[in-house]
Order: sequence, then C-alpha cells, then structure tokens
Amino acid sequence: MATINPFADDPVTGDVWEQGFLAGHSEPEVDHLPPFSPELLDAFQQGESAGRDERRLLPPAEGGDETSEGGLAEVAKDVGLHALGHCAFEKLFGAIGGLIALVITVVQIPGDVQLRPLEPDWEGAADQPDEQYVALCPRIDHPLAQVGVTQDGYWTGLAQPTYADALSEAQGHGHSETTVCRVSVQDATCGAVWPGKSN
Ligand SMILES: [Zn+2]
Repeated sequence: MATINPFADDPVTGDVWEQGFLAGHSEPEVDHLPPFSPELLDAFQQGESAGRDERRLLPPAEGGDETSEGGLAEVAKDVGLHALGHCAFEKLFGAIGGLIALVITVVQIPGDVQLRPLEPDWEGAADQPDEQYVALCPRIDHPLAQVGVTQDGYWTGLAQPTYADALSEAQGHGHSETTVCRVSVQDATCGAVWPGKSN
C-alpha cells in the first residue's frame, strides 16, 4: 500500500516529512535532531517515525536487521529491490522541481524518454540492463564547494551501473537522509529503492 505524506499539500513541511522518513528508515534506532523550527521538527519526527515503522516491518534477511548494513548490497543482488517505504517522495528536491528533475541532471537518458515516479509497490531484480543508480541527499546544508553539491545545496553521487556502487557512495556521504534512486530507461521510471522484497 502506498505511504501517504500527510503534508503532501505543503512543499516545505512535505519535504521535511519525507527527509524524516528517509532518516528514520536508514537509521531506525537513532533520534535525528536537525536544526528545524519546532513546527518543521514536528513534521520531520512524524516522518522519522513512519520511516522507522516501515524499516522494522522488513524481514531481517532483507535489510530489516540493524546489523546487516554491510550486507545490503548482497541482499539487493540475491533478492532484488523494492520501492523504498512504498513512497513516491514527491516533495523532496522541490527547489529544483523534484527528484526526477534532479536525477536527470546526473544520469544520461535518451531525449525521448520521459521519466515518471516509480510505483509505490514496485519490486524487481537489481542491476538490469538500461538501469542506472544514483545516491541523492535532500539536505541543503552541504558546503557549496563540495563535489556533487547542486546550486540549491542538495548533494548527488555519480550515475552508477549497479545498486552496490551507488549504495557505497550513499554510505560514504554520511547523511542518514541519503537515498539511492533507481532509474530505468526501459520502464521510464525513477524512484528511491531499498534491498529485498517489500513487506
Ligand atoms: Zn547530505
């Protein structure tokens, strides 16, 4: 079932809820305390709580086990990938026009391919032909001189041929809000993914 962002009508709080969701999903045991106003922090924490719940529903062998962080690439290879959190993440990267608008600044896709968001119930094998993976961070407090930082302050990794390569860049980046996005030219879809089958 698709996860609904309760702040989807508001570009600012909607974005912050989705950042909280990603942080809670990647580090469910950590209390993240970004320097937001009390109202935005509340939206972040609601997202964080929803993200934690989604992660904890996953079977341990499929990325639900806190100790399996290093094994996520293996799970992706053996079991496949699914749409992260059953969520389309439509509010992230609003300053540049959304996740897809940011991704197409990084990946090479044919001019006649119009990417659309990944279905919230998508699952499939990793590293298929015509796929690229890219690590993205929706925070805007990156130093502008840092490699991969956009004019709006977001951060992107490089377009990678495998999930494992993009995951490694995401883990190296160090922000818990960082996500790996799958881009498929064949299905013309683009969205955040996580190892294993969905719950
Ligand atoms: Zn970051």
